[in-house]
Amino acid sequence: MSFDQISWKSIKDEMESSKAELVAVSKTKPVNEILDAFNAGQVDFGENYVQELVDKQNALPDKIRWHFIGHLQRNKVKQIVPFIHLIHGVDSIRLLREIDKQGVKAGRRINCLLQIFIATEETKFGMDRKELDDVFSYLNEAQPKGICVKGLMGMASFTSDEEKIRNEFKGLRKLYDELSGTYSASEFFEPVHLSMGMSSDYKIALEERSNMIRIGSLLFGSR
Ligand SMILES: *Cc1c(COP(=O)(O)O)cnc(C)c1O
Repeated sequence: MSFDQISWKSIKDEMESSKAELVAVSKTKPVNEILDAFNAGQVDFGENYVQELVDKQNALPDKIRWHFIGHLQRNKVKQIVPFIHLIHGVDSIRLLREIDKQGVKAGRRINCLLQIFIATEETKFGMDRKELDDVFSYLNEAQPKGICVKGLMGMASFTSDEEKIRNEFKGLRKLYDELSGTYSASEFFEPVHLSMGMSSDYKIALEERSNMIRIGSLLFGSR
């Protein structure tokens, strides 16, 4: 299957009232399909492997905004720092430090989202409340110049139990609101994005006030 413009339009329509942003997850999909989506008007694309992202970034228009949504290894940060629009899955201070270091070197402030563990599956990544508070202590002390924390990201459990998914999203939204209230905005903390919801659960995520959804299979077919 190739890029499905009809599904894309209908998801955009559903998002109209919520003012959410759509990240089209193009991992494993060839550049010609990404170009079809870009030509239809989609600007934000998400990838989860560094090499694949770098190759695609080289081959595709500079106007595309690239999101890294995978688990980022510290030794690969410098490869994406020159062009990345937003890194979604930052889950440790060590990673944040490396992004800051590379951001400073490249002369850019790199936009990041902190990944929070909301599911009950051990395979998922993310921080808990305590680790999140540690990140803010670090930020306030270090006053980093190479990063800006733009909000939170999370992945709900893989389950057909909608109430469970809804509760996990509710918890993440609450945390996002709390953070925005607790820590004042600064050059390194500007809470604007709450990235939650994928093909299977984005409707629930929008109801729970997500403002950034990451959709792959509904747009490009199964992988
Ligand atoms: C692959 C992926 C998605 C998109 O998944 P679909 O089910 O295809 O919509 C969203 N978020 C992350 C972090 C992913 O790795």
